[in-house]
Amino acid sequence: MQQDDPHISIDNSGAAFTEEERIDIRLWRFDAAAPMNVFFSCRRNGVSKPPYDSLNLGFFVEDDAGDVHRNRQLLGRALGHKASCITSPRQRHSARVGVLDSELDIGAGSRMAVANRFDPCDAMVTSVQSAPLLLQFADCVPVVLTGEAADRPIIGVAHAGRLSLVAGIVTNTVKTMTDAGADPGSLVAALGPAVKPCCYGVDEETAAQFRERFGGAAVDDGRIDLKYGVAKDLLDAGLAAGNIHNLDICTSCDEDFFSYRRDGPATGRQGAIAWID
Ligand SMILES: [Zn+2]
Repeated sequence: MQQDDPHISIDNSGAAFTEEERIDIRLWRFDAAAPMNVFFSCRRNGVSKPPYDSLNLGFFVEDDAGDVHRNRQLLGRALGHKASCITSPRQRHSARVGVLDSELDIGAGSRMAVANRFDPCDAMVTSVQSAPLLLQFADCVPVVLTGEAADRPIIGVAHAGRLSLVAGIVTNTVKTMTDAGADPGSLVAALGPAVKPCCYGVDEETAAQFRERFGGAAVDDGRIDLKYGVAKDLLDAGLAAGNIHNLDICTSCDEDFFSYRRDGPATGRQGAIAWID
């Protein structure tokens, strides 16, 4: 992301992320403080067929639902969770945050045909233990927040695409956590793989809209910098720049990731998954 605005000087080193392979599943682990766990997946070593090959975690992209469920089982096995315990509601580029505050709702969205009280939402927050939250991405920015609220660990996972970001999904996720008692200055943010400005050229009207919301440095030569917008909203919400860590991978340049910009609507979704032990 661009660094020409003195307001934006987050950790772009990638030092807080480690690439790992767990039971054949390639992951990036964010170095979160115990008892938090934060991982980002890519598209390798699942069972979905082209054009969803192969570790597609999204039900609503016209892939075979059985294959998606199997992929979620493979991801869950690698991380020590049953697919039926992974909460993953339907996303809709909105600014709505779901709060998982009851063990009864663990696993919401884990079966395609069963609706749940979180549908649709584009971020989830919880303090419930052993309740992994999974959101899905193909270019949009995965934002995972960890911290403490009322002496309990708290996590949030947000889907920050252009529309949900402009609508306020990042701000709303932080607010949900601070309303629960978290101090924004002590929240830690991990930004996962997403499309970078190299691959995100837009028309002038879209560029103008984004520039108006996030300032001139968020758009360069008609190219949008989503993570600039994410970082700006996090800083405005009270996070410390040193607590914002970016994994600097472009999903459209790197073919190990699904990319809506590169592949069009017929592609899969990688995941950001986080839980409290
Ligand atoms: Zn790129």
